[in-house]
Amino acid sequence: MADKKASIAVARGDGIGPEIMDATLHILAESGAQLNIQEVEVGEKVYLRGHRFGIEPQTWDILRNSDAFLKAPITTPQGGGFKSINVTIRTLLGLYANVRPCVAYAPFVDTLHPKMDVVIVRENIEDLYIGLEYQQTQDAVHAIKLITRSGCERIVRYAFDYAETNNRKKVTCFTKDNILKLSDGLFHKVFDEIGEQYPNIEKEHWIVDIGAAKLADSPEAFDVIVMPNLYGDILSDVAAQIAGSVGLAGSANIGDHGAMFEAIHGSAPRRANQNLANPSGLLLGAVLMLVHVGQPEAAMRIHNAWLKTIEDGIHTYDIYKEGQSRKKVGTKEFAQAVVERLGQKPHTLKEAFYASKPTDKALVGQFNHASSGNRKAKELFGVDVFVDAHVSVEELQGRIARLNNDRLALTLISNRGAKVWPDPMPETVLVDHWRCRFLAADDEVVVNHQDIVELLKRFSDAQIDFLQTENLYTFNGEPGFSISQGEHLKVE
Ligand code: NAD
Repeated sequence: MADKKASIAVARGDGIGPEIMDATLHILAESGAQLNIQEVEVGEKVYLRGHRFGIEPQTWDILRNSDAFLKAPITTPQGGGFKSINVTIRTLLGLYANVRPCVAYAPFVDTLHPKMDVVIVRENIEDLYIGLEYQQTQDAVHAIKLITRSGCERIVRYAFDYAETNNRKKVTCFTKDNILKLSDGLFHKVFDEIGEQYPNIEKEHWIVDIGAAKLADSPEAFDVIVMPNLYGDILSDVAAQIAGSVGLAGSANIGDHGAMFEAIHGSAPRRANQNLANPSGLLLGAVLMLVHVGQPEAAMRIHNAWLKTIEDGIHTYDIYKEGQSRKKVGTKEFAQAVVERLGQKPHTLKEAFYASKPTDKALVGQFNHASSGNRKAKELFGVDVFVDAHVSVEELQGRIARLNNDRLALTLISNRGAKVWPDPMPETVLVDHWRCRFLAADDEVVVNHQDIVELLKRFSDAQIDFLQTENLYTFNGEPGFSISQGEHLKVE
């Protein structure tokens, strides 16, 4: 056992939270895990005391000074104004990796995929989840999908390190880079680059749509899958569900300065206070936590005792099946059954094994930031100005082309990404949200910020409602922006 006690912040949560947390803490205490536990309150009661993030300022210090945070599910009150505490904690503590093992426990828990053993590694901070959304016109709402090279590097390296440490053979990457060539394209590119540093691990990439179909149909074809945030959010739930039950999966949220462990399910308020809930998801979250804080022996003892309990047919209502299970038990009795099996191993299910030493790579989360130290030459090439206008293409083009000067000239107008000038297609359905691309008026012009400021002044003088600008940059001469069908750019 580890000689140093790990400091753990614990939140009992809402609904079934307190019951499954009691069960989990009981098993942790009996397992020999060396923990100093400090309780914190987060969730519904804190929300209702007027803290819209569900967490009080002083709690941050406790979380910051703990080795890990074990959190039971929280009820997010209905109605506007409340922010999801999970998203708040993940972003503010920089918990960039979400790790969710999705395992089938056939023949003891019903599943269509008895051989499934997949770990989803989801980027946890970036992508559309940065939460920047704007209503720009009567018709159009805009959300920002932000992907960074440093963010991709950290999550992809995490996935490969996780695979290496946990004796996994293959890492698969899911993206939609056939459509999102720059953002998802970056994720894929970084996956290929970093993958080269792991010669012993098989690598593959799937477009997320067909990859998701394959995952739902034949999950045994996958091992570790790494994905950007949105796809990971959706597919980690799909993966947990098809493995057998959302009640059985735990997850880890890992950052450089903190880590949070939880069950993947919610607070199931209708099941609360009846000694019914299955504590397995939170318990398996706690197992991931023990590995993270360098106590793999305790993690193995608990995980194997849990597997043996499942194998012995001691099941809570959610996985109980007549003829298959042996005994239907409540939350407390299930925990006691696990405690009684500490030290035992499963016979049929695969025994859990965690590296005997804590890894200083995969699970502690110390990574380099953007390894691409050699910065690229960044040059301003033009600007896209987004405009709100309820007019025809011809009228808009006429009004905008008047804003040209000898430095910047209109070269393209698009509507929802479809080029409508020059060479419009009559079939294109238009909305009131337009993009007007301005590039250097001739080969001699080197575009600068002042040109853009002056252009916007002309928009303002002409009383054209400009919504947003996107500067067009090249990086080492490569365009850092999407190019429309039929658009010819003279990039040096
Ligand atoms: P839920 O996961 O709480 O419940 C979905 C279904 O699964 C219910 O039928 C429930 O009875 C069952 N279930 C869930 N966990 C179970 C367990 N351990 N044992 C037995 N049965 C279990 O999802 P929901 O009903 O959509 O959400 C309820 C609340 O939980 C909402 O306020 C939601 O915002 C919150 N939530 C919190 C988290 C979190 O804190 N990480 C995650 C998801 C949802």
